[in-house]
Amino acid sequence: MELSNNEVRHKKNLGVEYLEFTAFDAYPNILADFAIRGQANLDYNWSENNGNYIKLAMALGIDYDGIVKAPEQVHGDEAARVNSIMDTPNRVDALMTNVSGISLVMRVADCIAVLVYDPVNNAVANIHSGWRGTLLRIAPKTIRRMADEYGTKSEDVVVALCPSIGPDHFEVTEDVRAQFEAEFGLSHITQSDEMHYLIDAPACLTDSLIEIGVQPQNIHSSGLCTVCHNNLIHSYRANTDDEKTCRNASIICIM
Ligand SMILES: [Zn+2]
Repeated sequence: MELSNNEVRHKKNLGVEYLEFTAFDAYPNILADFAIRGQANLDYNWSENNGNYIKLAMALGIDYDGIVKAPEQVHGDEAARVNSIMDTPNRVDALMTNVSGISLVMRVADCIAVLVYDPVNNAVANIHSGWRGTLLRIAPKTIRRMADEYGTKSEDVVVALCPSIGPDHFEVTEDVRAQFEAEFGLSHITQSDEMHYLIDAPACLTDSLIEIGVQPQNIHSSGLCTVCHNNLIHSYRANTDDEKTCRNASIICIM
């Protein structure tokens, strides 16, 4: 389908549209998907949109009761270890588990969702890295946390970066530009006009992963910009006012 490329397969089942990462084809025990626009649009607000998350679970073939999410994502750098479907992590932006049957879910629309698998210790993580989280280095911090909890080594992990606002559309003013320069240098910043700059946030995030020892060939980016593909993928910036609360959902599960 339309969004398919070397890194993702665009699929549709029961009205739910999603992208499946080819990087995980070698690991049939891992489900790693990114749900986009479809007949069952997902909402940031879980309780008002329960029915659509049930449809999502059915479409992906996961157990709805096995879904664990952080009801409130706060653009911080905290990760929670999930040991049971009864766990209720909140106000965190990364979840990790080594328990099969638990589906970790994050909701994003422009922010980068990062899916991580450690095939040696059979542990996974799902990370919400918006521009604030990218500056706080939540993704490398979560992989370090996986090292503490599961013995994960950075050089073993397979990482997928889900669609997010791309370098052609993530335009910022001087205050944000200065923070990115301080953290990542100038190589992923270009000036777009007198007052504005374009930032390649996925490239900054990729640099921060390579810095802690993640192998470049193990980092797989969908290469898809949420704004460019707003007809198929939710974008907070590009969605209309009545769709501002709609989200894409990243899902990772050890089956
Ligand atoms: Zn774009």
